[in-house]
Amino acid sequence: MNEDVRNLLLVQGLDDEIAVRSAEIDSLPRHIADIRKRLHAHQSQLKTDKDALAANQKQMRDLEGQVADHKQKISRLRDQMMQAKTNEQYKAFQHEIEFHEKAIRAAEDREIELMESAEALGTNVKIAEAALATEEASVKAESTEAEKRIALIRAERDQLETERKQTLQHITREVRAAYDALKARGRRQVVATIEAGNCTACRMSVRLQLIQDLQLSDKLIRCENCLVYLYATRVTAVDEHGPSTSGIVS
Ligand SMILES: [Zn+2]
Repeated sequence: MNEDVRNLLLVQGLDDEIAVRSAEIDSLPRHIADIRKRLHAHQSQLKTDKDALAANQKQMRDLEGQVADHKQKISRLRDQMMQAKTNEQYKAFQHEIEFHEKAIRAAEDREIELMESAEALGTNVKIAEAALATEEASVKAESTEAEKRIALIRAERDQLETERKQTLQHITREVRAAYDALKARGRRQVVATIEAGNCTACRMSVRLQLIQDLQLSDKLIRCENCLVYLYATRVTAVDEHGPSTSGIVS
C-alpha cells in the first residue's frame, strides 16, 4: 500500500474517533440541560401546590374569623332581645339572629370543603417533596458524572488530535492538500477501498486498469468520480468465517 494512503487511512480513522468524541461532548450538556429543565418544571409544580395549600389555609382562617364575628353579633343580639319592648322588636332581633346563624352554617360548610381539598393538596405536596428530593440528588449526581465524563473525553480527543497532527506530518504535501480540500467540502471519507469493482465511498465502478495498477504497484490512485484515494484489499482465501467480503473482482 502506498505510504501516503496508509497514513491517510490512519488519519481518517482518527477523524472518525475525534468526531465520535466531539458528538458526545456536545450531547452531554444538552442532556444535562434537559434533566434540569424537567427538574425546574417539577419544582414550579410543587410551588403551585404549596401556594394553593397556603391560599386554602388563609381562606380557612378568614372563615373562622367570620364565624367568630357572627357568634359575637348573635350574643349581642340575644342581650338586646332581652330588652325588647315590643313583639315587633323581638321578632326583628330574632330575624337578625337567624341571618347570622345561616351565615355561620354556610361558612362551616365551606370549611368542610376546604378541609377536604387541603387534605388532597397536603398529600400532593408531601409526595412532590419526596420525589423532588430524589430527583434533585440524581440531577446533581448526573451533572457531576457528566462533567467528569466530558473532561475525560476531552483529554482523549486531545490525544487523538495530537496523533492526527503527527500522522499528517508524514504525508506528502500534495496529498495533504488534497485531503484538506476533501475535508473542507465536508467529506468524511478521504480513503476508500474497492468492493466488487466499485469505489466504497461513492459506489461508482472503478476502471479495471486502475484496479490492476492498485494491485501491482503502490502508485497513488484516486477514484475518478469522487476523488478519494483508493487502496486495494487483497482477495483472501475463504476462511472459516466464509468468503471475504472485501475481495476485488479481477
Ligand atoms: Zn469514489
